[in-house]
Amino acid sequence: MAASVTDRFLRYVVIDTQSDAASPIQPSTEKQKNLGRLLVEELLEIGLTDAHLDEHGYVYATIPSNTHKNNVPVICICAHMDTAPDFSGTNVKPQLVRNYQGGDIRLPGDTSQVIRVAEHPVLKDLIGHDIVTSDGTTLLGADDKAGIAEIVAAAEFLLNNPDIKHGAIRILFTTDEEIGRGVDKVDFKKLGADFGYTMDGETAGTIEDESFSADGVEIAIKGVAIHPGFAYGKMENAIRIAGEIIARLPKNMAPETTKDRDGFIHPTGVTGVMEKAKLSFIIRDFKEEGLKTKEALLEKITREVMEAYPGSSYTFTVKEQYRNMKVVLDRHPEIVDYAVEAIRRAGMEPVRGSIRGGTDGSRLSFMGLPCANIFAGGHAFHSPLEFVSSQDMEKAVKTIVELAKLWEERA
Ligand SMILES: [Zn+2]
Repeated sequence: MAASVTDRFLRYVVIDTQSDAASPIQPSTEKQKNLGRLLVEELLEIGLTDAHLDEHGYVYATIPSNTHKNNVPVICICAHMDTAPDFSGTNVKPQLVRNYQGGDIRLPGDTSQVIRVAEHPVLKDLIGHDIVTSDGTTLLGADDKAGIAEIVAAAEFLLNNPDIKHGAIRILFTTDEEIGRGVDKVDFKKLGADFGYTMDGETAGTIEDESFSADGVEIAIKGVAIHPGFAYGKMENAIRIAGEIIARLPKNMAPETTKDRDGFIHPTGVTGVMEKAKLSFIIRDFKEEGLKTKEALLEKITREVMEAYPGSSYTFTVKEQYRNMKVVLDRHPEIVDYAVEAIRRAGMEPVRGSIRGGTDGSRLSFMGLPCANIFAGGHAFHSPLEFVSSQDMEKAVKTIVELAKLWEERA
C-alpha cells in the first residue's frame, strides 16, 4: 500500500492543474482535464468499470457494494484536482526526503525557501517519515492531490480485498475548488450518494465538521468629479472616500489579527477614479449572526464616512458565498462520529477541527449532500513550502478503508 499511494501522488503532482478565477468557463482551465483523463485511466485499470470524465471535467467512478446487506448508505468520497492560483503549479518537481531526521528542510530549486521547524512544528511528529516537498519554485499540490491519491489507493485496496465488506462508494474528483466553483456542476442524481467526505484537510488524525460562513460585500461609491482647479468646496473624490472607509476598519478584525473562532472583515479589492470607486470585501465568521454583525458594522462605517460627502452616494451589496457546514452535519451526527471512529481504528488519536475557510464540502452540505472533511496529510498549502508525509497519506488510505467497513458493519 505504501508505494502505491506515494507513487500515485508523485504522478499526479507533475500535472499542472492550476485553476483560474478570471476564466468564465468550467473547468476554468482546460489542463485540469489532463489529470482527469489520467485518473479515469487508473480507475479503469484497478477495475472501476464506470469511471469517466464528464464535460465539466469531473471524474466519477463507483466502488460497487460487495455486501449482502441492502441498507448500507451510499458514501461519496471527494477530492479536488485543481491547485490554487496563489502560486505557480507549472513544472512541479517533487522531492522526497526519505526517513526525515528532524531539522529544517531547505528546498533545492530555490535555497531561500526553507521549511522551518519553528514555523511548522508538525515536522517534529514526522521524524522517520518520508516527506514529499516541491523544489521550492512551485507549490507541491498536496492540496488536494494527496486526497486524490489516497482515494484511488483506498479503492484499489478495497477491490483487492473482497473479504472487506462495504456498501457502494461513489468517487468524485472536482475541478475549480480553489476558486469556489468546485461543485457548481455536480450531477447529484448521477452521484446518487447519501452523504460524503472530502479528503482535503491537513494534519493526520483531523476531522473537520465546521467551516466558516462566508459572504462577499461590494461597496460602490459615486463621488462628485470636477476640474481640480475649480474644485474648492465642490469636489468629493471617490478615491478619498474609499480610503477613509478602509482606514476606519477595526484593526482587530482582520485575517492577520484573528485566529481560532474569530471572524474578520477583509478588503480584497479596490478600484477607483475621482468620480467612482469600488471596494470588495470578504466577511468570515463561524456564526451567521457574526456575519450579520460584521456587515452591519461595515455599513455603519460607510454611512458615517459618507455623511461628510453630501453630494456623493453609495450602494452596499452583500452576496452569500457559503455557510458553515456544521448546521447540516449536526442533523446527521453519525457522519462525523463514524469518521472519528475510523481515524481511531486507523491508529490515530482523532482531533476535531474547524476550517478557517471553506471546502467543496461546505457547499455540498447545503446542496443536499452532508459532507465532513477528513485530513489528507498536507501542510503549508498554497505555498512553495507545501509538504506531505507518505506515512500520513497511508494513514488516510487506512481511514477511508475503516470508514467503508464501519458503515457496512453498523448498517
Ligand atoms: Zn484543498
